[in-house]
Amino acid sequence: MQRATPQEFSRVLSSMCTEPHPAARTAAERFLATNPGDPGTYETVVALEDEAVSTLGAVAGLAEPTDYITSDKTEANIQAMRIARDRADTSKPDVVAPESVHFSFHKAADVLGFDLRTTPLDAYRADTDAIAERVDADTVAVVGVAGTTEYGRVDPIPELAEIAADAGTLFHVDAAWGGFYLPFTDHKWNFSHADVDTMTIDPHKLGQAAMPAGGLLARSEGFFEPLAVDTPYLESPAQTSLTGTRSGAGVASAAAAMDELWPAGYREAAAVADENATWLADALSERDYRVVTPELPVVAAAIGEEVFAALRDAGWRISHTGRGELRVVCMPHVTREMCREFVADLDRIREHHT
Ligand code: PLP
Repeated sequence: MQRATPQEFSRVLSSMCTEPHPAARTAAERFLATNPGDPGTYETVVALEDEAVSTLGAVAGLAEPTDYITSDKTEANIQAMRIARDRADTSKPDVVAPESVHFSFHKAADVLGFDLRTTPLDAYRADTDAIAERVDADTVAVVGVAGTTEYGRVDPIPELAEIAADAGTLFHVDAAWGGFYLPFTDHKWNFSHADVDTMTIDPHKLGQAAMPAGGLLARSEGFFEPLAVDTPYLESPAQTSLTGTRSGAGVASAAAAMDELWPAGYREAAAVADENATWLADALSERDYRVVTPELPVVAAAIGEEVFAALRDAGWRISHTGRGELRVVCMPHVTREMCREFVADLDRIREHHT
């Protein structure tokens, strides 16, 4: 029987997934068959979940965090919107978010039956006037993004928190992509900077845990209460997660990765990612391409469809932004050497095309 081999990361420039830290890989394998959905039976993985939650709180500026390790960030965003919908008293719930929100919010709107009102951006970030204009008596949540998936921009989180507070509605921050990078910047993005109620934060992207592992943090335990359902035939009385049975691999690997890397290892990884993004953006600008200056380590540049296609034919895994620019995400596996090889291929292709 032919055995498939997992794809290598040596030419992957578009993905927000990366190679897990070796300690995370080992922990994932060890805890693969445990189920954090049934804490009464699988006690050791639950102890690791508590550890992971505590570190996630430190990352996100929350002294006494309540949280659980979700299957992924889609689950975290859906659950946050479920909390928002269930706390509010309206039969026509709406959620107001910048149009840069991740598509998981469109899934959430579909599943939970709320109206997702997206607003235009101002220089790739949420426009606070546009957000304030769309909030009404039926708004159950305002969403801000701390690190957009497409361009790596950080919304004005404190201003959005104020809009949500004035409207008496829940404020959710999606820091799925930025959460392990932003602690080493001057951005205002977390619970200690603004009145954030809930946050999605990601151990498996820059956090270097094994996939899938997400995190949903809330300002206090009360936020999770509406999510609990009774589980009479398990060893545990209730379950808060959206998924039922889930592997402990994500939980254990998140705890192991953060144990190894928070904060020094993540600081170093953020600095390397930053340097590589700046190097690549400069190299593309020098070749007269229009480049969107990176804020988080995502580089977008208008290189044209022909060159893009030739780079893909050369084996590079690259993606487009919605406007058709090349989009490169400088994840931990993206080295300077890879960036140099990419630009060398680009130069060869340009020569051929001129
Ligand atoms: N939110 C943001 C900002 C993201 O960048 C992503 C994934 O790229 C998600 C949510 C969804 O994450 P997942 O695909 O792990 O569910």
